[in-house]
Amino acid sequence: MTLITDHRVAPTPMVDPFGRMVSYLRVSVTDRCDFRCVYCMSEDMNFLPKQDLLTLEELDRLCSVFIEKGVKKLRITGGEPLVRRDIMKLFKSLSNRLGGPLEELTLTTNGSQLEKFASELADCGIKRINVSLDTLDPIKFRTITRWGDLDKVLTGIAAAQKAGISIKINAVALKGINESEVEAIIKWAHDGAMDITFIEVMPMGDIEPDRFDQYWPLSQLRAQLQSRFTLDEIDYRTGGPARYVRVKETGGRIGFITPLTHNFCESCNRVRVTCTGTLYMCLGQDDASDLRAPLRASSDNKLLSDAIDQAILRKPRGHDFSIERNISKPAVTRHMSVTGG
Ligand code: SAM
Ligand code: SF4
Repeated sequence: MTLITDHRVAPTPMVDPFGRMVSYLRVSVTDRCDFRCVYCMSEDMNFLPKQDLLTLEELDRLCSVFIEKGVKKLRITGGEPLVRRDIMKLFKSLSNRLGGPLEELTLTTNGSQLEKFASELADCGIKRINVSLDTLDPIKFRTITRWGDLDKVLTGIAAAQKAGISIKINAVALKGINESEVEAIIKWAHDGAMDITFIEVMPMGDIEPDRFDQYWPLSQLRAQLQSRFTLDEIDYRTGGPARYVRVKETGGRIGFITPLTHNFCESCNRVRVTCTGTLYMCLGQDDASDLRAPLRASSDNKLLSDAIDQAILRKPRGHDFSIERNISKPAVTRHMSVTGG
């Protein structure tokens, strides 16, 4: 099957009311997942009916319009993107835009299916992948992910590296869970030539455990690291919100994403689309715009392009996360698996 590609419209760059140019799109291709991470989902999650999802052809068309409108970096995410049936067709089709206006095609994955797909992803021009991994202890890994198998993820990482893809590890800082392990995870990542980024738990969606119990501020994690390592501030940026340091002892990089302790919104260049075609202008706000209706209303892309322009005009200055305020009630009602982190 060849995905539809030719619905061009005259490009209008996406600039929000605060003068920020939108050049980064994250697309969640499914809300389903083969893990049930404790901070992300409840064990008995209700998933969207399959008929509500955009087809792969529609996702391809949507991404193409965003690329024509100035998106240079496209990240496929989920849920777990690699569990969506035939997802490689979308990667193959999107890879045709690389070398043109699209500068980078990438994905965020839990790594469970990487062994199977690593070489196909490399063939699609994917050079970097983010793999989420919060612990190297198989039992803790199973506790955090509820359903995951650490060995499978490690094999997947090795397969991706063998295929020439560089890996960045994303780890959520979890109080009392991976607190005692972070130095070992950093050494493991750096020994394997991988950057590692730590993320604070964000108050998104209703889940069973008390989120305040999971929240470990990165300011505390960083202080802990400083007693073990020499951390040199560096200018390195990947187009995302992480601030990086280099560890003198390992030579590797550590990123910190601190939505709760440090507001990174002023340089936000991104928007997110869900697998049902809902556009979120901010990860931490509920305002959204439906793109599925204009996408389906006409095979011409004008309606869709106009709907995107209208939505970008509503991109807020920033999010409003606060762990204290969001103890009993999440800041946004949707789960991270809907917008894909
Ligand atoms: N399934 C893929 C994965 O785990 O990498 C992609 C989707 S997942 C929602 C994207 C990222 O969001 C993961 O790194 C995960 O750890 C992170 N995440 C999920 N829920 C979160 C939360 N409540 N706070 C902070 N990060 C979260
Ligand atoms: Fe699945 Fe990723 Fe959420 Fe874990 S964080 S449950 S792997 S979507």
